[in-house]
Amino acid sequence: MINIRKCAVIGCGNVGATTTYTLMKSKIFSEIVLIDVDKKKAEGEAADMNHGIPFNAPMEIYAGDYKDISDASLIIITAGANQNIGETRIDLLKRNYVIFKSIINNICKYNSNGIILVVTNPVDILTYFTLKISGFPKNRVIGSGTVLDTARLKYLVGRSFEIDPRNVHTFIIGEHGDSELPVWSSANISGIDLDSYCNNCCKNCTTKKFDEFFYDVKNSAYKIIQGKGATYYAIAEAVEKIVSAIVRDENTVLPVSTLAAGHYGLGEVCLGLPCIVGSQGIKKILDIPLNEKEMSMLKESAEKLEQLINSLEI
Ligand code: NAD
Repeated sequence: MINIRKCAVIGCGNVGATTTYTLMKSKIFSEIVLIDVDKKKAEGEAADMNHGIPFNAPMEIYAGDYKDISDASLIIITAGANQNIGETRIDLLKRNYVIFKSIINNICKYNSNGIILVVTNPVDILTYFTLKISGFPKNRVIGSGTVLDTARLKYLVGRSFEIDPRNVHTFIIGEHGDSELPVWSSANISGIDLDSYCNNCCKNCTTKKFDEFFYDVKNSAYKIIQGKGATYYAIAEAVEKIVSAIVRDENTVLPVSTLAAGHYGLGEVCLGLPCIVGSQGIKKILDIPLNEKEMSMLKESAEKLEQLINSLEI
């Protein structure tokens, strides 16, 4: 039987450890199993976090094995290599595909009813392979998609307009990577479309400003990695947001990575699209309106991912 209060985190590096810490603080789970090829690392992270439990809420966090995940409702995968300076997410593909194959096979040996949340990069392609290797239904294989990129964009717009980023409504969709795109056509601030908002705002923003926001989002991971070697705080928050939507059955709209076939005329590919996320995982893809330019950029993003998938399918 699946225990909705239990999750597993596979990979206890920067992202896995920070995600576990964020989940500990959120008190969503009462049991978290940590799995890493480096068992000592998983044990160290578990011990360190356990000492924080008296400041939070009772829960069990421990280093375990695949047999311990049989009743986990959520399996979060952050295992694998990280980008080196200057390396794209796609450069990681070959290295992480091999790691993933063995991880997914191990998960399937012990758990067939949970929801798998893929965070490792390149997240869209690995979500696709997770779906194919596991044979899980598509609603139960989710990639973190462009949830983080969307948060980055909201932050930049909010900071520039001096407005709470939670009142900025927009999405980045497509690949979590270089071919992603912003959906400016339906972007709004508390119901006021961006053009009208800008006309009244007197900051004299031009479309160049919006291009700059998007450029910064696309390049923020490269910049952070150059500075500190990895990104992990904001992605941990993004994962927590997806996880709470599932555990609390919130039906929250989030641009997670999902199988896009049948939407916008896209093929067999996973990429970030706004989806309703609840207790069954992905309840529905929301076909938000896109203008011609956005549509064509989304198609290009999907085609790029499809080519990479085909180049690996052996
Ligand atoms: P890291 O190197 O700090 O951690 C990776 C961990 O995976 C290590 O502890 C390693 O021992 C473990 N590992 C390797 N192979 C394993 C296996 N077969 N089974 C179990 N554990 C294994 O890397 P990181 O900074 O934590 O990044 C992890 C991944 O998350 C990277 O692919 C990174 O690009 C990705 N990431 C994704 C997003 C996103 O938005 N989706 C954001 C940030 C980072």
